[in-house]
Amino acid sequence: MRSDVIVVGGGLVGSAIAWGLQRLGMATLLLDEGDLAFRASRGNFGLVWVQSKGLGAPHYQRWTRASAEAWAGLAADLAQETGLDCGLRQPGGVHLCLSDQEFEDRSGRMARMKAEAGNHAFDYRMLDGKEVREMLPGLGERVVGASWTPYDGHANPLNLLHALHRGFKLAGGRYVPEAGVKAARAAPHDFHVSTPGGDFAAPRIVLAAGLGNAELAPIFGLSAPVRPQRGQVLVTERTREVLPMPTTSIRQTDDGTLLLGDSQEEAGFDVHQTQDVMAVIAQRAAWSFPWIARLNIVRAWSALRVLAPDGLPVYDESETLPGAFTANCHSGVTLAAAHARFFAPMVARGGLDSAMEPFSARRFAAGNTCV
Ligand SMILES: Cc1cc2nc3c(=O)[nH]c(=O)nc-3n(C[C@H](O)[C@H](O)[C@H](O)COP(=O)(O)OP(=O)(O)OC[C@H]3O[C@@H](n4cnc5c(N)ncnc54)[C@H](O)[C@@H]3O)c2cc1C
Repeated sequence: MRSDVIVVGGGLVGSAIAWGLQRLGMATLLLDEGDLAFRASRGNFGLVWVQSKGLGAPHYQRWTRASAEAWAGLAADLAQETGLDCGLRQPGGVHLCLSDQEFEDRSGRMARMKAEAGNHAFDYRMLDGKEVREMLPGLGERVVGASWTPYDGHANPLNLLHALHRGFKLAGGRYVPEAGVKAARAAPHDFHVSTPGGDFAAPRIVLAAGLGNAELAPIFGLSAPVRPQRGQVLVTERTREVLPMPTTSIRQTDDGTLLLGDSQEEAGFDVHQTQDVMAVIAQRAAWSFPWIARLNIVRAWSALRVLAPDGLPVYDESETLPGAFTANCHSGVTLAAAHARFFAPMVARGGLDSAMEPFSARRFAAGNTCV
């Protein structure tokens, strides 16, 4: 069964790219695994977050900012095409500092981000205790200050995933679940994959299989050195609207629950939750907003991030097997607009723009110092 392009992986990265490709008129096939797969897209925190992205890597800061700016258009298109609301809110966001040391570290980080942004303005402010209390009522005594940027926000990541899938199918795309790629044959502009759901071929292929990319990429002359990093998230009972904007680790969803999180743990592929980490998340949330301690926790989960060695995305096209591309990142909500509106058109044109070069996995090659 042939199509113009195969996208492997139906998480946020693959479905955003597939939706973008299909809307550009490319007959797109989206292959996905089943319910037992690792799927960060169903377990994330839902931030559309800019302020901490790209220290030491201004290209990543620009990519993230561009995506955050394109998000409103993405949400509007998805709402129009699918009737689904992605719940996008971009009121700005804060990172709370719970000690003088944290405040000092954060100030240094934000100043470096601004310096690295150069002519590409990076608007931020460090807020002292009084200023941040005016912005966010109910803060605890331990909060000494915060960093703020106007670029940040949040969305409903499950609605986003649902809308991308629905939009993809409505635009004529073909989604095949239970179709994990088990074997493949690759030649320039000629790719054949075998799955339990059938065999498929196309002159272009995009590997967007999250953690599955590590194994698939070498078959297509690519490299995707991604590893799992566990994050745990707690959910409180619903409450009236109390938080006017998200913080790095606390946000209020549009149905009133608070999400608290999220940890960064090197635990391999273990998706268990652990009491000690959940206790730290709850404690920091209660230090930030003491009233949170009165809310019941109704749900909790853990999920695995898709992380490259330097924490930045990996985007590549194969030098030996032209027509094969890969996309990997640990900010698939934030970058959904970039994937649909910028990355998909590059694949449709047949090659990545030169501005994408710093994202290549070639930065990890021995002797290469430009990480
Ligand atoms: C706890 C946590 C909090 C997070 N918070 C945020 C946040 O606030 N903001 C943000 O922007 N990002 C956040 N992220 C990151 C975001 O969730 C991920 O970047 C994004 O979901 C990655 O999407 P993906 O499609 O690459 O991977 P996945 O969601 O893992 O999807 C990969 C898909 O590929 C399929 N697959 C795998 N192997 C194969 C194969 N061989 N053949 C076919 N299909 C295959 C799988 O079935 C799966 O559906 C968070 C992640 C975690 C874990």
